[in-house]
Amino acid sequence: MAKYHRIAVKIGSNVITRADGTLDVTRMSAIVDEVASLHKQGVEVIIISSGAVASGRSELKHLVEHSLDPLSSRQLFSAVGQAKLINRYYELFRDHGIACGQVLTTKENFATRAHYLNQKHCMEVMLDNGVIPIVNENDTVSVTELMFTDNDELSGLLASMMGTQALIILSNIDGVYDGNPSDPGSKVMLDILAEEHIDSSSFIQKGKSSLGRGGMGTKYRISQKVADEGIAVIIANGKRDHIVEQIVAGDRSVPYTVFHPSSRATSSVKKWIAHSEGFAKGRITVNRQAFEVLISDKAISLLPVGITAVEGEFEKDDIVQIVSPDGVAFAAGRIACSSDRARALIGAQGGRPLIHYDYLYIDRTRL
Ligand code: GLU
Repeated sequence: MAKYHRIAVKIGSNVITRADGTLDVTRMSAIVDEVASLHKQGVEVIIISSGAVASGRSELKHLVEHSLDPLSSRQLFSAVGQAKLINRYYELFRDHGIACGQVLTTKENFATRAHYLNQKHCMEVMLDNGVIPIVNENDTVSVTELMFTDNDELSGLLASMMGTQALIILSNIDGVYDGNPSDPGSKVMLDILAEEHIDSSSFIQKGKSSLGRGGMGTKYRISQKVADEGIAVIIANGKRDHIVEQIVAGDRSVPYTVFHPSSRATSSVKKWIAHSEGFAKGRITVNRQAFEVLISDKAISLLPVGITAVEGEFEKDDIVQIVSPDGVAFAAGRIACSSDRARALIGAQGGRPLIHYDYLYIDRTRL
């Protein structure tokens, strides 16, 4: 029945924790039942689950009366909460005779191509052996500047890396609304096409979810980007019973937002670069002419003559962001030389590309 053979399901803190932060085991159990049923039908599922920090916070409420700084409390809460979270999942999947395994990761684990492929290998081995990966950011070691914006960003990276056909983002609202979700006149946008680059600022509410770090703003941007790479992205309400099965079956009788995938083929190395936002080592600004040709549909490499500034320290093969004359980081690529050499080459005529087209990713959601 299933049109997907591999999917990623991201479960937000608000879905599986109650208002006081304790784990909502009934909800977790309902989602695990759905995943187990898909697994038995041969669909490979990767779970990205938040909820560690919220659950740890509720557990330690009586202990942590003195105020801790935000980093210390996140490290402490996630250490305790992650143990609780994975334990619950482990027990719930065991009732179905299915093994799950914990993958805790950080941005650094994707920063080089070798690290990235190593993470991918780990999860491929799990899936090959019928084990369901349950991924979360390792909040105990990831400090602020090396943190993923939220698990939405991490789930986009993983869906892309693992070549899933769909990414299902479960939150506590029905999808993307065309206005303020609490306004009775607002409706869920059911279908968003990959080519449709709508300006979302008019209808996406700023602000974050009450428990997790993400908000609809990041969800929307990540969804567009992942759909642009050819993966269907669905934003749905994880509090609804049977929602995952309904999505996989294509049942549209309940509301949820589908970002339809583009038919654009993205190479494996470009997928890595596409999700490098947080671990790029430097920034290169280009002139207007270079910007225009890079965003055209032609296969163009970045040449020294097109660059006007180089920021940061990097080595050959590091990832750098490419910035438009207006200051928008609209692309990223693997650089062919060090930052010192790139600085020496600013504006030079001729010479080899600084970033070859094969290693250049244009983020169309930024244009
Ligand atoms: N990793 C965090 C947790 O498990 C959640 C991050 C997010 O809100 O996306 O609590």
